Amino acid sequence: MSSTSPSSTSSTSTISTSSLAVASLGTPRIGPRRELKFALESFWSGATDERALIETGAGLRAANWARQKKLGVSVIPSNDFSFYDQMLDTSVMVGAVPEIYRWNGGPVPLATYFAMARGAQGKTQEASCGHINHGRDAAQGMPALEMTKWFDTNYHYMVPELARDQKFTLASRKPIEEYEEAKALGYQTRPVLVGPVTFLKLAKSKDAGFNPLSLLDRLLPVYIDVLRELACRGAEWVQIDEPCLVLDLDIVGQQALHYAYTEIASAVPQLKIMLATYFGGLGGNRDTALALPVAGLHLDLVRAPEQIDGLADFSDDRVLSLGIIDGRNIWRADLSRILHRLEPVIAKLGKDRVQIAPSCSLLHVPIDLALETGLDSEIKSWLAFSVQKLEELSTLGTALAGGRGAAEASLRTSDEAAAARKASPRIHDAKVAARIAGIDDAMRRRANAFAERAGVQHERFNLPAFPTTTIGSFPQTAEVRKARAAHASGALTDEVYKIYLQDQTARAVQWQETIGLDVLVHGEFERNDMVQYFGEQLAGFAFTTHGWVQSYGSRYVRPPVLFGDVSRPKPMTVEWWQYAQSLTKKPMKAMLTGPVTILNWSFVRDDIARSEACRQIALAIRDEVADLEAAGAGMIQIDEAALREGLPLRQSEWKAYLDWTVDAFRLCSSGVRDETQIHTHMCYSEFNDIIDAIGAMDADVISIETSRSKMELLDAFRNYRYPNEIGPGVYDIHSPRVPEIEEMTALLKLARMRLTDTQIWINPDCGLKTRKWEEVRPALVNMVAAARELRASA
Ligand code: GLN
Ligand code: ZN
Repeated sequence: MSSTSPSSTSSTSTISTSSLAVASLGTPRIGPRRELKFALESFWSGATDERALIETGAGLRAANWARQKKLGVSVIPSNDFSFYDQMLDTSVMVGAVPEIYRWNGGPVPLATYFAMARGAQGKTQEASCGHINHGRDAAQGMPALEMTKWFDTNYHYMVPELARDQKFTLASRKPIEEYEEAKALGYQTRPVLVGPVTFLKLAKSKDAGFNPLSLLDRLLPVYIDVLRELACRGAEWVQIDEPCLVLDLDIVGQQALHYAYTEIASAVPQLKIMLATYFGGLGGNRDTALALPVAGLHLDLVRAPEQIDGLADFSDDRVLSLGIIDGRNIWRADLSRILHRLEPVIAKLGKDRVQIAPSCSLLHVPIDLALETGLDSEIKSWLAFSVQKLEELSTLGTALAGGRGAAEASLRTSDEAAAARKASPRIHDAKVAARIAGIDDAMRRRANAFAERAGVQHERFNLPAFPTTTIGSFPQTAEVRKARAAHASGALTDEVYKIYLQDQTARAVQWQETIGLDVLVHGEFERNDMVQYFGEQLAGFAFTTHGWVQSYGSRYVRPPVLFGDVSRPKPMTVEWWQYAQSLTKKPMKAMLTGPVTILNWSFVRDDIARSEACRQIALAIRDEVADLEAAGAGMIQIDEAALREGLPLRQSEWKAYLDWTVDAFRLCSSGVRDETQIHTHMCYSEFNDIIDAIGAMDADVISIETSRSKMELLDAFRNYRYPNEIGPGVYDIHSPRVPEIEEMTALLKLARMRLTDTQIWINPDCGLKTRKWEEVRPALVNMVAAARELRASA
């Protein structure tokens, strides 16, 4: 898989006259056909050996370099590849391997690396809450490092774990090896490193109160070693990513940056640093960033286009990398519009001082649109994946260097696509526009306040104190997934598949009744995914076949593409609810995914505001809620698992986000009568900072994740005097361990110290789809027993 036409090893700063420099900050590592996933999983299962995995990695890197070269990229990255995650690579590079992994110095073995990633003793990790991963099984053996979201993306990184007395040492030479590997294939690359300040800012320590940033002094020598060696071996530029520059940094953070880059500049003066920022604007860190002694600065001009205005201040000989193609979304760019913005800037700064680039690494978009042979051709003509985005940059580079005439044909195609998309009737639905225009305040408000509704609801349902329920899904067993795959491939007819799903549902309902749960669910067996299931039934969404994006490790997702106005052609869940309710006299809770979660887990159209797209989804869900109510559903749960994760990176933008997300929730949930109980579910363990918004959502019942936080997060609800009902999770569904009755009664005792008894529901932390029936059965039996004990003693 090596390059067919190796380039000369000319320096990356040599700008050819026919094009402006086109830089790539990083490319997807998973392979066009998910080669990396299959190689990893085969290695983990023991089917293939380490050598096979290493070879696959090398093949993917060679293919990535060749592809970028062929697409006209002049600044090609190395060390953007990873077997698992670039933050984990960085931990390993600097020897930050926590003691439990029993590393004894020397190069870090692959087994240790994967133990940090996934835990050891064959325990595999799983996404437990839709797309989010909240924690991994580590009942025995070594637990994995903690994992969390990389800024506001759906990529998850392994959180570095540093001790107060942490020592750093160069323990992996990956950046150097990959630089050499590329060079041997004929590519002069710009190696990429996660910057030392971002690394420490994202790290955590077991020592409460210890700030990992204070380790900067000890960390820098390792970075300097790496940089020196890269320089020695011929690297002229190194890209160092410091996305922490788009966060609200305090003076300590700003000073840390200043210190780090001053040290680096004086230790390795011969090396040029391209300091990359992305996912937002520099904001209050602008002066800090501009004062750093680095040779180049990359700015995200997609998220923060206004940054282009201040660029004239950048009046010395430093190189500017302009992130102008969206690295976070999949829309084809309007190239003429970009040219219009860039031409004056280039004229001012001069061609040799500017590079153009995607806004961030292309890790966050799928690889190649050409593979989407099944996609509607009109929609396809509006999209660009990583390959297409690099082509766009190459066109822009040519036009900026040689004038628009030099790229005439490509620009014309781009213009045509932009015009066609704008005018397409597929995107604009007058009926949706009319409904949006018709929204009034009454639609955002329940007819009566909670206190009044609660009375009516209690009368209607007549539930015992501390009612028990679950969050919605029951185990998605291998058998269920197999049946779904067989149905998708045509091997199972609609009819047979439906009977199978009904049978699964009936068993689940019957079992819930047998063990004595008070409010039942149908189990969600018919759903492939809590967002995709709805997206597939809503107008305005499209789906890809190969549009995989890394979520973490070997787990990839294919986000739905929200391309047009959203509406609901027909009921989506009513039949399944009706079927499930027909099997029992107990209340059957209907189950929907909320508008914010659908939005946050999709690639969203960029021609209208996200808030606007969200409002459209809210109206579609509102229709479903109305139909469920009309069919007799007395309880309707609207999950907003992703509301919190959509919070903007900067605190100053939170209020606006929470305003429109709460508005969307109210819009979808407020059309019902008093006696209809609206539930919502959120799987977070942090509510303090968004409690006002939670209150404003005004769901009759909210179920939340609390078991691992020992109910402490209920303090937020208590302090707020949250009046509505709450189901604090008493069973940690992220672990295969079956909780004892006493553990749950102990948790409930803690809950009762913070809430009034009439507020409390009893439920697990989240849905049970990732668990096994053998785990779920005893756990829920115990949960019901805990509720009974509580009732007896209360
Ligand atoms: N109803 C969903 C389930 O139980 C909720 C999942 C989630 O919150 N992520 O699976
Ligand atoms: Zn959940």
